[in-house]
This record gives sequence, C-alpha cells and structure tokens, in this order.
Amino acid sequence: MKRIEELITRETPKLLNCVHCGLCLEQCPTYRLTGDESNSPRGRLAIWRAINEDRLAVDEHTDFYTAECVGCLACETVCPAGVPYGELLYETRHRRVAAGARVRPAIRMAGWLVQRPRLMSALLTPLRALRRIGLRPHRFIFPGAPAVLESTAAYARRLMAAHSPDGPPVALFTGCLMESAFREINHATVRVLVANNCRVTVPEGQTCCGAVLEHEGLPGKAGLDARNRAAFADGPCVVTNAAGCGLALGHAIDTPARDLTSFLNELDLVPGSPLAVEHLYFDIPCHLYHGQGVRTPPEKIFSAIGNAWSLAPNADRCCGSGGAYNVTHPENAGAMLREKSAFLDDDSHDRCMLVTANHVCMMQWQTAVAKRPRCVGVRHIVQVLDESYQRAGVYTS
Ligand code: SF4
Ligand code: SF4
Repeated sequence: MKRIEELITRETPKLLNCVHCGLCLEQCPTYRLTGDESNSPRGRLAIWRAINEDRLAVDEHTDFYTAECVGCLACETVCPAGVPYGELLYETRHRRVAAGARVRPAIRMAGWLVQRPRLMSALLTPLRALRRIGLRPHRFIFPGAPAVLESTAAYARRLMAAHSPDGPPVALFTGCLMESAFREINHATVRVLVANNCRVTVPEGQTCCGAVLEHEGLPGKAGLDARNRAAFADGPCVVTNAAGCGLALGHAIDTPARDLTSFLNELDLVPGSPLAVEHLYFDIPCHLYHGQGVRTPPEKIFSAIGNAWSLAPNADRCCGSGGAYNVTHPENAGAMLREKSAFLDDDSHDRCMLVTANHVCMMQWQTAVAKRPRCVGVRHIVQVLDESYQRAGVYTS
C-alpha cells in the first residue's frame, strides 16, 4: 500500500480532489447517526489533510474520528472525484497504531491469532463442537453444524475423488475465522461447486487475508499477502465466499479473485427445490457492493433456489459489522443494525430468511433475526443453494 505522503502530494492531484460536494454525507452511517461533519467522509478527509499539512495536531479528538469510521466504503461509491477513501483510512490507522495509538487487547490478540490460522482452528475446535450439538456460546454465533475435525481441504479432496468433475477449475480460499468457526459454509461451498461440475482445489500454504489487520491498523498483512501470493500463484480462478476476505485478498494476490456469489451467478446452475420459507431477503455486504463493485443481485442463484426473494431494504447500507466494529463500537453498530433490520418488524411473511454473503455480516445479523420469531434465521447464500440441492436430491442423484 502506498504511504499517505505519496497519496497526498501535488504529483497525485486526483487524491486531493475532494470538492466538498457533500454527496457522501447521507451515505455515511456515522454521519447519519450523529449529524457531525467531522464524523463524515468529508470531515475525516479534511482532518487527515490538515494533519498531513501540519495545520492540525493529532490528538484524542482526531483519533476518535478516525476510529469512528466503520469502513463500509459507501462514500467511495458515490464520490464523483474518485477519492480513494478506504486506502487513506487504512493508511492513517496504520500510522496511528505505529505511533502508539491504543488498540484494545482483544483486537491485538485477534490480530496475532489470524496470522496463525492453524492455531486458531485448533483453539476453536470446542466452538465447532458446541455449534455442532446446537449450542451457541455468544449472541454473535449463528446456528450451524460444522465438521469438527475434517478440514475443507480434506473434504474437497474427498468430494473430488468421489465425483471427478471436469468443468472449470477453482482454487478456494477458506479463510481463518470461516474455517475455524463456520466451516459448514466452506463445506457447503465445496458441495455446490462440485455439484456444478467445478474442479475444486484448496491450495496449501494459503493463510488469512489480513482484513482485520488492515481494518484495525495492525501490522502483519504484508507477510500474509506474500504467503497468499505464493499459494495462489499458479492456481486457477481464486474464489472467496466471504466478501470482506475477497476484497482484502483481491488487493494482495496477482491471480484474479472472484466472489463466490458472482462466480456462481455466471454458471449454468443445476436447479434445486425451494426451501420451506415464504420469502428470502438478500442483503449485499458492503465489501461486495462498495468494495468489489458487485451491485446487481445474483438472480440466477435465486432462480436455481426457487423461492420468492427480494433485496433487503437498504441492502447497500452497512449492518455495522465492519471488521471488528461491533466489538469496538457496539452502540454505533447496534444503531446501524436497528436501522437496517427495522423492516423485519413489519414483515408480513409467515417465515422469511435473511440471506447474505459474508460470515461477519451473518454474526451481526444473527443478533437482529434472533429477536424476530417470524424470521427463521440468517444464512450464507451458498448455504441456501446447498439446502435447496439437498431438498431436490441433487447430491444423491
Ligand atoms: S463525495 Fe467525494 S468529493 Fe464529495 S465531499 Fe465526499 S469525499 Fe469529497
Ligand atoms: S467508510 Fe463508511 S463509515 Fe467510513 S466515512 Fe465512508 S461512508 Fe462513512
């Protein structure tokens, strides 16, 4: 990543192009919550530029506003001047952490652990076991039944040997938290890809994408990037099933990375059978919509599933999960989720389901759907397709 001094220079005038138009203000969740100009993209950019030009000293107030941003990147989508806001945010946070800004011990521990995914997976074995027997030790933990011991790499090898698909090759990125805690989504991904004749490999040597390090300003992402570049160097199309990981990985490796949602949506999908729910609401993760520019809903996937569906209201707005935001800023994150999930209070369907494409968003949504008895839960879109395949007998035919 370029240093902020390189980004904000006379040689790169487009990066000074904030024309103060204010189009980003109403798109920004922290501005909508507070009405505070300094808590908006335009305000933060003005603060950072003033600091960089030695017109303003870094203090607790400037750090406060830098930390308040959820990193949803909604401001980038609407900005007519092409200000690379996310890049500036991450670089600013890295500089502040390097200069000694406080980071919660739990976040530092998480940043240390994601760089050791095998240890993380071993430490979270009890969580997988608890989830498998239907226990959820925290309100962010959504229901699911992951394999306790069989890794996604081993599972993919087993399915590949059993079915010998001969279609497009896919290198699957499995992630750290996804593989350690929510492995059932990775296994569903393998099943769905193999059912659609994709040749799935899980390259050895891959590691965490480093999104949380990038988001929190912690060091270590460059080392992870190098390992992932090497792991995926010779591979075919890299597919990720977590929007946040896909954004971070896409910037780091040379091989093109695709989000599973858009990858599947381009296949001639095997049809499934509808789930026993009346309606599916699809919520697009910010790092898919704003970060990766995937803005059209995956109609072919929903067509294969067969249920009635629609975009969730305010599908382009942040649910409040951004990185570890729901841990570091629980009040803001809760308010963002309340705004987004309010439609479920008026929903007239007997049974609806919230569908998204990022496990971290699912953790945040879990706290909202748990309070709505007519919403049967939150699922990853590949889990919904997987369940529709099970109902149609695709895996036994
Ligand atoms: S939309 Fe872009 S140019 Fe306009 S105020 Fe926001 S950052 Fe500046
Ligand atoms: S990334 Fe999101 S929260 Fe941060 S300034 Fe942009 S719109 Fe606001």
